[in-house]
Amino acid sequence: MKDFSLLLSEVLQKGICVGCGMCAGVCPKHCLAMDWNILGQYEPQPNSISECISCGLCIKVCPFYEHGINEDGIGQKLFSVIPNIKHTEETGFYLGAFAGAADEETRLNGASGGAVSWLLKKLLEEKRIDKVITVEPCANPEKLFRYTIVSSPSDVDRCAKSAYYPVEMSGVIREIMAQDCRVAIVGLPCFIKAVTLAKSFFPKLRQNIHFTFGLVCGQGKSRMFTEYHIVKMGAEPQDVASFTYRKKVSGFPSSNYAFEMVDVSGRRIRKMWSDGIGDIWGGDYFKQKSCFFCDDIFTECADAAFMDAWLPEFVRDGRGTSLIISRNSLISQLFSNSGTYTDIPAEKVIESQYGVVENKRGFIRYCSADMDVTLKKRDFSLPLSGKKIRLLQKKYKNACFVHQALAQGDGWIGRIDRRVRGSLFIRLKKQIKQRLKQLLGK
Ligand SMILES: Cc1cc2nc3c(=O)[nH]c(=O)nc-3n(C[C@H](O)[C@H](O)[C@H](O)COP(=O)(O)OP(=O)(O)OC[C@H]3O[C@@H](n4cnc5c(N)ncnc54)[C@H](O)[C@@H]3O)c2cc1C
Ligand code: SF4
Ligand code: SF4
Ligand code: SF4
Repeated sequence: MKDFSLLLSEVLQKGICVGCGMCAGVCPKHCLAMDWNILGQYEPQPNSISECISCGLCIKVCPFYEHGINEDGIGQKLFSVIPNIKHTEETGFYLGAFAGAADEETRLNGASGGAVSWLLKKLLEEKRIDKVITVEPCANPEKLFRYTIVSSPSDVDRCAKSAYYPVEMSGVIREIMAQDCRVAIVGLPCFIKAVTLAKSFFPKLRQNIHFTFGLVCGQGKSRMFTEYHIVKMGAEPQDVASFTYRKKVSGFPSSNYAFEMVDVSGRRIRKMWSDGIGDIWGGDYFKQKSCFFCDDIFTECADAAFMDAWLPEFVRDGRGTSLIISRNSLISQLFSNSGTYTDIPAEKVIESQYGVVENKRGFIRYCSADMDVTLKKRDFSLPLSGKKIRLLQKKYKNACFVHQALAQGDGWIGRIDRRVRGSLFIRLKKQIKQRLKQLLGK
């Protein structure tokens, strides 16, 4: 039977729900409500499940249900007919690729080069859209970021920068289904896949959603990732008034940005990426389990995808630079005619995300076997060495360790700290050994 029980057995009980909220947003009977689970991730909870009419829509729009068509197939349907469209295994379809940054104000305010905000403001100013569905910061420690609908360029500026925090779309999807307007939506690849699936079932969404913009995504983190850092910064999660993940700090390269929090008393605390944040991020601690089964890097279903220019020629400029992959002729035209964005080969864009490509795609097979999850993914293999596989397996275990520590409740910070310190200690020991060898000339 195609009802909530199928979503429960095929997605929720397998632990691969990413918490996008699309199932709850489209349910005609409002049977589902998004709420936090014990791991600090969103999940649909049965609300008035006795009202369920077994329409199956919740399953049909879920990006993690096995539909027999993955991002490749969806991309093929959406974009393969566009004249001069090109394709690579890594990026999916693309019409053009660009590098550059927005005007100075938008650039400095943005996560990377401010390209997303620049484009959203341009589309609003040229009256090509009426509204934008994106993510805004909130002064609520229980929900530091949330999806919102905005309609002015100043609101777009207020929403800039990346939120490495769970957000869910159920509310904005319900709202937009009840309106007549032209919107652009910003989201992570799995969210844009959910939007694309939902558009195929709901004429209202097809009519209203004119552009889908994706953020290239290496991994999603649970809410506990932020709360862990708040504690490490010497504050309590309930005392936080605002949190910024991409504070650009003068004199540092764009890859070494800061996390910055302001507490309720106005105290501002900053921590640099190089000061341990990178170890927690790159070690896959707090990574959502669904992300181990995701091989969409460049948001293959979106009209355009945006990312950091992680290339040596751009990283030195701490103001940040964006790379963009476009699959839409109007978007390509806007970037081409901007005077500030230049064409870049798709190969360079892939090179900028090579670590993500390797991490996401090389690891899927291992996870699929280990977790007994039979998600149908493309058979993509990278030349991964045995050493690399062992490293990836260790990172996966880090995420599982965090899940266990959180499920145990009290003392989870201490347990995670000990594990992180342990791995840092091992690395340090190796470095000392190498240094000694050098000193002794061996
Ligand atoms: C979880 C996550 C993982 C990422 N991983 C990578 C990566 O591995 N490599 C890489 O190059 N880039 C990654 N990015 C994208 C990168 O951090 C920037 O968001 C992107 O380059 C756009 O920068 P910008 O300056 O053009 O955007 P800005 O002008 O700063 O605008 C960003 C827009 O995105 C919206 N937004 C922010 N967070 C979210 C969110 N969680 N969901 C939906 N919308 C959001 C904002 O509201 C704003 O409208 C990731 C982003 C996120 C949120
Ligand atoms: S009414 Fe339809 S969408 Fe809602 S829970 Fe039941 S099957 Fe899912
Ligand atoms: S649609 Fe989104 S929130 Fe609902 S079960 Fe699937 S992944 Fe989870
Ligand atoms: S890694 Fe994939 S599943 Fe995880 S948040 Fe990013 S796009 Fe979604």
